[in-house]
Amino acid sequence: MTYSAVPDRYETLPYRRTGSSGLVLPAVSFGLWQKFGTDYAYETQREIILHAFDLGISHFDNADRYGPPHRAAQETFGRVLTTDLAPYRDELILSTKAGNPIGPSPYLTGGSRKSILTSLDHSLRDLGTDYVDIFYHHSPDVQTPLEESVGALVSAVQQGKALYVGISNYLPDRAHAAAELLREAGVPLLIHQTRYSIYDRRPEQNGLLETADQDGFGVIVYSPLAQGLLTDKYLDAIPDGARAQNSTFLSPEVIDDTYRRRTTELNKLAESRGQSLAQLALQWVLRRGEVTSALIGASSTAQLDHNLQALTFPPLTDEELALIDEHGVH
Ligand code: NDP
Repeated sequence: MTYSAVPDRYETLPYRRTGSSGLVLPAVSFGLWQKFGTDYAYETQREIILHAFDLGISHFDNADRYGPPHRAAQETFGRVLTTDLAPYRDELILSTKAGNPIGPSPYLTGGSRKSILTSLDHSLRDLGTDYVDIFYHHSPDVQTPLEESVGALVSAVQQGKALYVGISNYLPDRAHAAAELLREAGVPLLIHQTRYSIYDRRPEQNGLLETADQDGFGVIVYSPLAQGLLTDKYLDAIPDGARAQNSTFLSPEVIDDTYRRRTTELNKLAESRGQSLAQLALQWVLRRGEVTSALIGASSTAQLDHNLQALTFPPLTDEELALIDEHGVH
């Protein structure tokens, strides 16, 4: 059936400024890391992507590595872009990343100019677009001079293949150094993509959020639901089809008694606020002004609808934040 986006799609979700740039991003963005390769039904994938856009999620995150197999998630998105979203390309913020291994070749990994720029060209073909809005170096590569990796990002912009650049998984010192180099090159660092959740406090402990504030780049946080651990779904058992059952990135062994105890307490707190744990976990990452967007995944449209309701609840109080610290920190 021909897709037509719902007219009121910009009326519910807030958009937040990305650092000191001119670009705003939806408070919740959508990533295609899991279940968007050849392992899941295309019609379901298409339905989720289009539903996200209808909910005002204008930003879709991808990487050369996402699948399975590698690159397949970009091809999935490219198919939806061609058949449904092409008329809305100007309203989409598409991102991709290069640098994590996607094959045995030394040119299919790392931070060399060769790896980064050939990956981008391939990703543009996968996605079926002339440019991405944000192009990331996926992870730091200390074997490669930072100047070379950053220089490749600058070239991507100069060649018209990316509008903005980002880095991911960089520690604060290296992020600051990258920001300085990019500023000197006239291509400011737009954003840093990092893991952050009630169960992973590193960006606030290691100073990344402060660095972002000082250097003027935004922060988009991945796995804000800890891949589903910050929901009530694993409290009794591992449901059929859930990520902990079928992904190499979430071992069922993490769902132990300690996990259940902590998560049960957080779940009770969420219930006392009349919301779910997933909703509380999203509100928690978005409470920080340095965080531009919470980058979520979903395996159904129902999860998307449910999670976006997070934005309708009153802010967390100091007392509630203290309780979250008590149960959320190991
Ligand atoms: P989340 O923490 O949001 O986990 C999403 C998963 O949790 C869903 O796929 C679903 O899994 C489950 N879930 C979501 N909502 C609910 C709900 N309401 N109730 C029950 N279960 C729910 O984020 P991801 O770990 O998926 O990461 C998001 C994105 O971040 C990725 O797609 C990618 O774009 C990016 N990322 C970037 C990385 C990097 O190195 N830069 C690394 C990792 C991710 P299911 O139903 O299948 O169990």
